[in-house]
Amino acid sequence: MYDGIVQELIDEFGRLPGIGPKSAQRITFHILQTPTFDVARLAELLSEIRTRVRFCEICGNVAEQDRCAICRDPRRNPALICVVEDAKDVAAIERTREFRGLYHVLGGAISPIAGIGPDDLRIAQLMSRLADGTVQEVILATNPNLEGEATASYLSRLLTTMQITVSRLASGLPVGGDLEYADEVTLGRAFEGRRVL
Ligand SMILES: [Zn+2]
Repeated sequence: MYDGIVQELIDEFGRLPGIGPKSAQRITFHILQTPTFDVARLAELLSEIRTRVRFCEICGNVAEQDRCAICRDPRRNPALICVVEDAKDVAAIERTREFRGLYHVLGGAISPIAGIGPDDLRIAQLMSRLADGTVQEVILATNPNLEGEATASYLSRLLTTMQITVSRLASGLPVGGDLEYADEVTLGRAFEGRRVL
Protein backbone atom coordinates (compact mmCIF):
# COMPACT_ATOMS: atom_id res chain seq x y z
CA MET A 1 0.00 0.00 0.00
CA TYR A 2 1.11 3.52 -0.78
CA ASP A 3 0.10 6.80 0.74
CA GLY A 4 -2.90 8.72 -0.49
CA ILE A 5 -3.16 9.66 -4.15
CA VAL A 6 -0.60 7.10 -5.38
CA GLN A 7 -2.66 4.23 -4.01
CA GLU A 8 -5.88 5.87 -5.15
CA LEU A 9 -4.64 5.98 -8.74
CA ILE A 10 -3.35 2.39 -8.55
CA ASP A 11 -6.77 1.27 -7.27
CA GLU A 12 -8.50 3.19 -10.05
CA PHE A 13 -6.37 1.63 -12.81
CA GLY A 14 -6.86 -1.75 -11.14
CA ARG A 15 -10.59 -1.47 -11.69
CA LEU A 16 -10.09 -1.41 -15.47
CA PRO A 17 -10.59 -4.65 -17.44
CA GLY A 18 -7.40 -6.59 -18.09
CA ILE A 19 -5.29 -4.59 -15.65
CA GLY A 20 -4.15 -6.44 -12.54
CA PRO A 21 -2.60 -4.85 -9.42
CA LYS A 22 0.96 -5.19 -10.80
CA SER A 23 0.12 -3.41 -14.05
CA ALA A 24 -1.86 -0.74 -12.20
CA GLN A 25 1.20 -0.04 -10.09
CA ARG A 26 3.49 0.00 -13.13
CA ILE A 27 1.26 2.47 -15.00
CA THR A 28 0.95 4.74 -11.97
CA PHE A 29 4.72 4.90 -11.45
CA HIS A 30 5.31 5.38 -15.16
CA ILE A 31 3.07 8.46 -15.09
CA LEU A 32 4.69 9.67 -11.87
CA GLN A 33 8.28 9.23 -13.01
CA THR A 34 8.18 10.05 -16.74
CA PRO A 35 8.44 13.84 -17.20
CA THR A 36 7.63 13.56 -20.92
CA PHE A 37 4.38 11.68 -20.31
CA ASP A 38 1.56 14.04 -21.33
CA VAL A 39 -0.76 13.90 -18.35
CA ALA A 40 -2.88 16.82 -19.58
CA ARG A 41 -3.55 15.02 -22.89
CA LEU A 42 -4.64 11.84 -21.13
CA ALA A 43 -6.86 13.78 -18.74
CA GLU A 44 -8.44 15.64 -21.66
CA LEU A 45 -9.18 12.43 -23.56
CA LEU A 46 -10.65 10.76 -20.50
CA SER A 47 -12.94 13.65 -19.78
CA GLU A 48 -14.08 14.05 -23.39
CA ILE A 49 -14.49 10.50 -24.67
CA ARG A 50 -18.06 10.05 -23.47
CA THR A 51 -19.31 13.34 -24.82
CA ARG A 52 -17.46 13.15 -28.14
CA VAL A 53 -18.11 9.54 -29.08
CA ARG A 54 -21.48 8.33 -30.19
CA PHE A 55 -22.65 5.46 -32.34
CA CYS A 56 -23.04 5.55 -36.12
CA GLU A 57 -26.68 5.98 -37.09
CA ILE A 58 -26.28 3.45 -39.90
CA CYS A 59 -24.06 0.66 -38.65
CA GLY A 60 -23.74 1.20 -34.89
CA ASN A 61 -19.94 1.48 -34.97
CA VAL A 62 -18.26 4.11 -32.78
CA ALA A 63 -18.24 7.51 -34.45
CA GLU A 64 -17.63 11.16 -33.72
CA GLN A 65 -20.21 12.29 -36.26
CA ASP A 66 -23.68 10.99 -37.16
CA ARG A 67 -21.99 8.45 -39.41
CA CYS A 68 -18.76 6.55 -38.80
CA ALA A 69 -15.66 6.88 -40.99
CA ILE A 70 -16.40 3.56 -42.74
CA CYS A 71 -20.01 4.45 -43.65
CA ARG A 72 -18.79 7.84 -44.92
CA ASP A 73 -16.08 6.29 -47.11
CA PRO A 74 -17.32 6.19 -50.76
CA ARG A 75 -14.68 3.56 -51.65
CA ARG A 76 -16.33 0.93 -49.46
CA ASN A 77 -18.50 -1.62 -51.28
CA PRO A 78 -22.13 -1.10 -50.22
CA ALA A 79 -23.15 -4.52 -51.63
CA LEU A 80 -21.35 -6.30 -48.78
CA ILE A 81 -22.30 -6.11 -45.14
CA CYS A 82 -20.35 -7.82 -42.40
CA VAL A 83 -22.42 -8.40 -39.26
CA VAL A 84 -20.48 -8.31 -35.97
CA GLU A 85 -21.42 -8.30 -32.31
CA ASP A 86 -19.35 -5.39 -31.17
CA ALA A 87 -17.50 -2.29 -32.40
CA LYS A 88 -14.27 -3.95 -31.21
CA ASP A 89 -14.85 -6.65 -33.84
CA VAL A 90 -14.99 -3.97 -36.56
CA ALA A 91 -11.51 -2.86 -35.50
CA ALA A 92 -10.26 -6.47 -35.50
CA ILE A 93 -11.56 -7.11 -39.03
CA GLU A 94 -10.25 -3.76 -40.31
CA ARG A 95 -6.76 -4.78 -39.17
CA THR A 96 -6.86 -7.79 -41.54
CA ARG A 97 -7.44 -5.48 -44.56
CA GLU A 98 -9.41 -8.33 -46.16
CA PHE A 99 -12.77 -6.66 -46.15
CA ARG A 100 -13.82 -3.60 -48.14
CA GLY A 101 -17.55 -3.65 -47.51
CA LEU A 102 -19.65 -2.09 -44.77
CA TYR A 103 -20.46 -3.31 -41.27
CA HIS A 104 -23.45 -3.78 -39.05
CA VAL A 105 -22.85 -3.86 -35.29
CA LEU A 106 -25.51 -5.86 -33.43
CA GLY A 107 -24.59 -4.66 -29.97
CA GLY A 108 -24.22 -8.17 -28.54
CA ALA A 109 -25.39 -11.71 -29.22
CA ILE A 110 -28.47 -13.76 -28.48
CA SER A 111 -28.10 -15.29 -25.03
CA PRO A 112 -31.11 -16.84 -23.27
CA ILE A 113 -29.03 -17.15 -20.07
CA ALA A 114 -28.24 -13.44 -20.00
CA GLY A 115 -31.81 -12.65 -21.09
CA ILE A 116 -30.73 -11.16 -24.42
CA GLY A 117 -33.13 -11.88 -27.27
CA PRO A 118 -33.26 -10.74 -30.92
CA ASP A 119 -35.24 -7.63 -29.97
CA ASP A 120 -32.38 -6.43 -27.78
CA LEU A 121 -30.00 -6.38 -30.75
CA ARG A 122 -29.88 -4.06 -33.78
CA ILE A 123 -31.54 -6.68 -35.99
CA ALA A 124 -34.49 -4.53 -37.10
CA GLN A 125 -32.01 -1.88 -38.26
CA LEU A 126 -30.16 -4.55 -40.24
CA MET A 127 -33.34 -5.70 -41.95
CA SER A 128 -34.21 -2.15 -42.97
CA ARG A 129 -30.72 -1.69 -44.42
CA LEU A 130 -31.30 -4.78 -46.58
CA ALA A 131 -34.69 -3.67 -47.83
CA ASP A 132 -33.63 -1.58 -50.84
CA GLY A 133 -31.76 -4.40 -52.63
CA THR A 134 -28.29 -2.80 -52.62
CA VAL A 135 -26.81 -5.47 -50.38
CA GLN A 136 -25.91 -8.73 -52.12
CA GLU A 137 -24.03 -10.57 -49.44
CA VAL A 138 -24.28 -10.60 -45.66
CA ILE A 139 -21.27 -12.08 -43.89
CA LEU A 140 -22.08 -13.31 -40.41
CA ALA A 141 -18.99 -12.62 -38.31
CA THR A 142 -20.38 -13.18 -34.85
CA ASN A 143 -18.04 -14.80 -32.30
CA PRO A 144 -17.24 -18.52 -32.68
CA ASN A 145 -18.93 -19.39 -29.38
CA LEU A 146 -22.38 -20.58 -28.28
CA GLU A 147 -24.06 -17.16 -28.32
CA GLY A 148 -22.36 -16.12 -31.55
CA GLU A 149 -23.42 -19.34 -33.32
CA ALA A 150 -26.98 -18.99 -32.04
CA THR A 151 -27.09 -15.43 -33.36
CA ALA A 152 -25.66 -16.46 -36.74
CA SER A 153 -28.19 -19.25 -37.21
CA TYR A 154 -31.05 -16.98 -36.15
CA LEU A 155 -29.98 -14.38 -38.72
CA SER A 156 -29.41 -16.91 -41.49
CA ARG A 157 -32.94 -18.24 -40.98
CA LEU A 158 -34.30 -14.70 -41.00
CA LEU A 159 -32.48 -13.92 -44.26
CA THR A 160 -33.45 -17.06 -46.23
CA THR A 161 -36.53 -15.35 -47.61
CA MET A 162 -34.44 -12.56 -49.16
CA GLN A 163 -32.44 -12.65 -52.37
CA ILE A 164 -29.19 -12.21 -50.49
CA THR A 165 -26.18 -14.51 -50.15
CA VAL A 166 -25.52 -15.29 -46.51
CA SER A 167 -22.07 -16.48 -45.51
CA ARG A 168 -20.30 -17.37 -42.27
CA LEU A 169 -16.62 -16.97 -41.48
CA ALA A 170 -14.64 -20.16 -42.08
CA SER A 171 -13.61 -22.36 -39.21
CA GLY A 172 -10.05 -22.04 -37.97
CA LEU A 173 -10.99 -19.35 -35.52
CA PRO A 174 -10.47 -20.53 -31.96
CA VAL A 175 -13.80 -22.06 -30.93
CA GLY A 176 -15.33 -20.53 -27.84
CA GLY A 177 -13.13 -17.49 -28.31
CA ASP A 178 -13.71 -13.90 -29.15
CA LEU A 179 -13.24 -12.49 -32.63
CA GLU A 180 -11.37 -9.48 -31.28
CA TYR A 181 -8.60 -11.73 -29.91
CA ALA A 182 -8.02 -13.67 -33.13
CA ASP A 183 -4.77 -12.78 -34.85
CA GLU A 184 -4.93 -10.93 -38.15
CA VAL A 185 -3.72 -13.82 -40.31
CA THR A 186 -6.26 -16.29 -38.90
CA LEU A 187 -9.08 -13.78 -39.14
CA GLY A 188 -8.05 -12.80 -42.66
CA ARG A 189 -8.07 -16.46 -43.74
CA ALA A 190 -11.45 -17.01 -42.11
CA PHE A 191 -12.75 -14.18 -44.27
CA GLU A 192 -11.30 -15.49 -47.51
CA GLY A 193 -12.60 -18.98 -46.78
CA ARG A 194 -16.06 -17.93 -45.69
CA ARG A 195 -18.75 -20.40 -46.61
CA VAL A 196 -22.17 -19.66 -48.03
CA LEU A 197 -25.00 -20.82 -45.79
ZN1 LIG B 1 -21.17 3.35 -39.71
